[in-house]
Amino acid sequence: MSSPFMDAQFQPSTQLIAWALGLYALFLQGTVVRCVRANDRDAGLGWWLGGALCVGTGFWAQSLLNLVALQLPIRVGFVAQVVLAAWMPAVVISAAAIWMQTRLHFPVRLRVIGGVLIAFGFCLLTFIHASAIMFQPSVSWDVWRLMASALLTLGGCLLGSLALRQSLAAEPPLWVRSLKVLGISGLFNAGQVCMVWAMQVPAGAECLSVDHLSGDGLVLVLSGAVLMLLVMGHLSMRLDARAQRRQQVLVNSLKEAQAALEEAAQHDPLTGLLNRQGFERMLHQVFEDAGASPARRLCLMRLHVDGVRTLIETYGHAHGDQLMRHLALRLQVALREGDVLAHAEFDEFLVLAHGLVDEHDMAQLAQRFLTAVHEPCLVDGHELSVSASIGIARSPESFNARLLLTHASDAMLTARKAGGGVYCFHRSGEDQVGVDQVALQRDLRHAIARDELMLHFQPKLHAGSGALAGVEALLRWQHPVRGLVSPATFIPVAERFGLIGELGLWVLDAACRQVRLWHEAGVDVPVAVNLSAHQLRQPDLERRVREALVRHRVPPAMLILEITESVAMDDIEASLRVFDLLDDIGVQLSIDDFGTGYSSLSYLRRLPARQLKIDRSFIRDLDSSPDAQAIVEAVVHLAHALGLKVVAEGVETPEQAAILTRLQCDELQGYLYARPMPERDLLVWVLRQDMAVMGVVPEGPSRPAAEGKQAAKGTARPITAWSELDYAPLLRQVGR
Ligand code: C2E
Ligand code: MG
Ligand code: MG
Repeated sequence: MSSPFMDAQFQPSTQLIAWALGLYALFLQGTVVRCVRANDRDAGLGWWLGGALCVGTGFWAQSLLNLVALQLPIRVGFVAQVVLAAWMPAVVISAAAIWMQTRLHFPVRLRVIGGVLIAFGFCLLTFIHASAIMFQPSVSWDVWRLMASALLTLGGCLLGSLALRQSLAAEPPLWVRSLKVLGISGLFNAGQVCMVWAMQVPAGAECLSVDHLSGDGLVLVLSGAVLMLLVMGHLSMRLDARAQRRQQVLVNSLKEAQAALEEAAQHDPLTGLLNRQGFERMLHQVFEDAGASPARRLCLMRLHVDGVRTLIETYGHAHGDQLMRHLALRLQVALREGDVLAHAEFDEFLVLAHGLVDEHDMAQLAQRFLTAVHEPCLVDGHELSVSASIGIARSPESFNARLLLTHASDAMLTARKAGGGVYCFHRSGEDQVGVDQVALQRDLRHAIARDELMLHFQPKLHAGSGALAGVEALLRWQHPVRGLVSPATFIPVAERFGLIGELGLWVLDAACRQVRLWHEAGVDVPVAVNLSAHQLRQPDLERRVREALVRHRVPPAMLILEITESVAMDDIEASLRVFDLLDDIGVQLSIDDFGTGYSSLSYLRRLPARQLKIDRSFIRDLDSSPDAQAIVEAVVHLAHALGLKVVAEGVETPEQAAILTRLQCDELQGYLYARPMPERDLLVWVLRQDMAVMGVVPEGPSRPAAEGKQAAKGTARPITAWSELDYAPLLRQVGR
């Protein structure tokens, strides 16, 4: 039985041309998408519309040629208006596809919907082209082939909308992209061929549009024109991409040049370090980064190299430059990791140090810088010596970058006014006290050399027997103009200007010398020396103590080191380490001014201290306040439980002495018995006490409430016989 439809054949060469055009159009679409994305908004819009015209024309021609490839037993022709009408949807579909693909972050759900719509558009395009051939009677459609066509086109569109996005996001190699384009365009083309194949022309039908567009000429003209359009579009896009790349290279090199300029503008050409602008910028950034949260502990040091200008006048600028380079290197070596050094002015450096816990750590770092600068530099055979003045400011006290810089400058000026060669901390209220402090420290620096320092000694007595238990060495300064200056006045100055280390060593040495002299005079008295916070943090404290003991041949047990409670508790772990080292020497450790700090019981237990001195403020109120009594009683119990002796300082009245004795305080110290006095007076005082006991001179009011005169007898005799103390191991430890 013969078929009711005409026999349909396909011309492979035309089909091949159709597919090639479609492939090229698709390839071009990828290029258009890249071009649109690389350009700014206006240029991108132009490329989008132009690209959509080219690509759409390619798809339009592909669809038409696939229809032209259909070979029927009768001649067919295409109605030109209908063919042209199909061009419009082709361009719209391409525009939509390009637009969707330029949106990298378009959600997948919308991408799928877009793919379905575009697939529908493609089917419509082929359908319009098919209806350009007018058959009488009209064609019928094979539903299965139509469905296959729709599915193939849909697959191509979905693959296209997803695959091209990935290509844009990850830029896979060319061959991967080509493979994808080949696959997508294969699906499109198969979809179109399937739709043409679904057309069933009734046998005996005639083509009413046979006189319209038809024949091989149509194929040639159409494919040639479209190919040219595509090639031109492609070329102009390639040219644009090249121009874009060149422009990008130019922009990049401009940016690099700008960055290099900015970098150079923030660095000092002489030393290669940050310059003032760079440093200030970095400092502002540090504060900005900290934001509202409490800024990290920052310490800013401004270091002025003193005397460099005079050197330049003598040796010239070249020497000056070389000297500054040397110093920059030395300071870099002295820096800790993470600290920042800048060369702010010709003779000024700035240092930003992070995470220094307290003033003593800062002082140590400043001391390192001072030492680094003071070391002579050999420049062209000349030994050049300079010194430095360092101003130190810190946050959070100076709570922003500007304040930190200003305060460091103020402190640096104070250090320079003080004669240079020192560091100086910024203190608030600087202006009122600054001048006096500067004058005081200048004199203090000469005090040791001029022999103006001396020790006064204040006795400590056994509460029960009234016997001399020891003495506390208290530093005094006999100022040529001001008279006797109290340590409460000059110790803070010494701490601020970095002189406390030297003073401390002097005291240690003088105290040990005195113990030795008393021993030779027949009196053996343990002496207590106050250690400053700075000394406690000095890495060589233990060695210095050993040396002082050995130098004066004093057994360690004769030396008591008093450390204020608040200082000991400031950095507990560090204190524990130092206390252990000192305890190993065999010296006794005492917690001074107890009650003014915030001791944690657990730490107190771990400290190898032997005695605890209750602060004067508690003793003062003892006879009037039951609270003060309760506190002292509790402290005594606690100290005894921990195996510590208790010393009460500032005992001024017999009532206080009686209460303290009743509360079982071990030792008493205060004006009631004696004020701090020079060593000769102390010897006289000791002799007077003994003579009073023996009834040679009347007993003064300062005698402690001894329980029996017998008990107090022999105060002037050695209270600790040296022979009982093991002195030899100490000598062995220091290798003497
Ligand atoms: P501190 O170690 O607590 O010394 C006790 C202070 O109380 C001494 O004051 C002493 O004169 C005073 N004092 C003693 N008994 C009485 C009393 O009954 N009533 C009153 N009102 N005061 C009494 P000074 O000598 O002025 O020393 C003050 C502080 O200076 C000392 O307190 C100590 O912390 C420090 N200091 C003294 N000498 C040195 C030293 O050589 N090195 C260090 N780092 N600090 C020292
Ligand atoms: Mg003391
Ligand atoms: Mg005290």
